Amino acid sequence: MTSTQDQLHCEYLIIGSGAGGSTASKYLVEKGKDVLLIEEGEHFKVDQFKGSMSKSLSNVWRNAGITPILCKSNFGFGEGKCLGGGTYVNGGLIWRTPITILKLWNKIFDTNQFSLENLEKYFSEIEATLELDKYNVNNYLQNKDSIKLDEIAKKYKINVATVPKSINSTVDQNKLQLGSPGLTKNSVLQKYIYPSIDKGLRLLTNCKANKLISSNGKITSVEVTFNNKKIHIFPKKVILACGATQTPMLLKKSFGNRFFESEMCVHLNLRIGVKFKEEMFADNGIMFTKQIQEYLDDGVLIMPTSFSKSSFFSSLAKLDNLEIKEISKQFNFFSNFVLQIQSKNKVNLNSLSNNLILTYKLNLEDLEKIKKYLLIFMEFLFSTGAVEIYLPLKKNFKINKNSDRAKFIEENVIEKNIEMVSVHGMSSAKMGINRSNNEIFNLNGKSFDFNNMFCLDSSILPTSTIESPQGTVMALSRSIVENL
Ligand SMILES: Cc1cc2nc3c(=O)[nH]c(=O)nc-3n(C[C@H](O)[C@H](O)[C@H](O)COP(=O)(O)OP(=O)(O)OC[C@H]3O[C@@H](n4cnc5c(N)ncnc54)[C@H](O)[C@@H]3O)c2cc1C
Repeated sequence: MTSTQDQLHCEYLIIGSGAGGSTASKYLVEKGKDVLLIEEGEHFKVDQFKGSMSKSLSNVWRNAGITPILCKSNFGFGEGKCLGGGTYVNGGLIWRTPITILKLWNKIFDTNQFSLENLEKYFSEIEATLELDKYNVNNYLQNKDSIKLDEIAKKYKINVATVPKSINSTVDQNKLQLGSPGLTKNSVLQKYIYPSIDKGLRLLTNCKANKLISSNGKITSVEVTFNNKKIHIFPKKVILACGATQTPMLLKKSFGNRFFESEMCVHLNLRIGVKFKEEMFADNGIMFTKQIQEYLDDGVLIMPTSFSKSSFFSSLAKLDNLEIKEISKQFNFFSNFVLQIQSKNKVNLNSLSNNLILTYKLNLEDLEKIKKYLLIFMEFLFSTGAVEIYLPLKKNFKINKNSDRAKFIEENVIEKNIEMVSVHGMSSAKMGINRSNNEIFNLNGKSFDFNNMFCLDSSILPTSTIESPQGTVMALSRSIVENL
């Protein structure tokens, strides 16, 4: 890389240091390429926040944690903004792409490119690098909420899987709300970015790409703001890896709203509080160690989720003081679970005066699915020791064993009463066979419009993954970068 005060030159410019960007950086640097990785957010050490969610939210999340998605039941979209991107704040569940999804992609594109045989070596490499097998989460008997799922699996003969996790510590994990920052897991920061720096990766943090500048079907330079100063970078090749909301935003800022129509696939997370008749001590457990996979082909997963005093009580702010006082006496009897649904409808990404506005409508089929799986899960829970369930609803959310569940669900699970969040965005600048309004990269991640521009992040996924997407994003990035 050569440089003057206001200009930098490089062979590969990678914009964004999350799952996709860091995977590409590591491979290219190992191949001896001249790589400059730029990241809008800052660099924080892995244990910088020591588990403090409030400090983490304000420093490493875009919009201090929540970007609103406007709809009848407005909800938040969460994404990381720091070195390591979403992998710094996420839960560290590293799943392979479900076979159903790989088959679907092969069918859509009439190819074999996305078969497990082709991707196997990339998944294995990523799993080894992130040290997925370091701890056997099944050995931790304090995970009573996960043990509950095993009990349910046995009783109802359903598929409950052990979650592949990149944890590097088993201490107090469940106390970490909204992802596990820092020391509890191996993010790409420790396993991809630091080793790449040792091998010659050039890195600028606090460096935001504002605009891609093109001429004759090529990106000639990228205008960035680095430490509050505008400079230009002249790359031979540009790799976009800004994540599912920001890659489309950068494209729209650079080439206008008419360049493509962006809509993003999301998974919806609905949090369910459960009081059991026995003590669960859920805050002593490890996050997300088991998952109900029986309904994966229907786009539905159910798993225990993080649990701490502060997160639990903030989710109960809708109760009155007396009720909260009562519940606090029985805190050890509670656990949290999450119902995750692949949304049929997509989130529209609108760029208005360079501001991102997200809008959405809940599909009726998804509403019916939410009702169906809440009922199924309630049946499982009440038959294995639950005495009270707090549903993901704004009003009328408490239900006990003797209530008429079907009637309750029908009356209360309506779009405007549902509480949900999303932290998985994908497919917002998709790959495809031909250039279309929303397919703007080919199956090798190469732009149809600019012959030296590529995209290797969650934006290019053809559809949502149902499962957590980091493993898929990394495997696709790794497989594509090999053939750049
Ligand atoms: C709370 C939470 C929990 C999650 N849990 C899991 C989980 O357990 N397992 C899983 O598989 N997935 C999980 N995810 C999702 C997963 O983290 C993302 O799917 C994945 O990180 C997406 O990778 P990416 O490369 O597309 O983008 P990101 O990882 O989001 O990285 C994009 C990076 O680009 C930077 N950037 C954006 N715009 C610019 C710009 N203009 N210039 C320079 N830099 C820019 C951003 O700051 C960011 O750091 C979770 C996400 C969150 C938020």
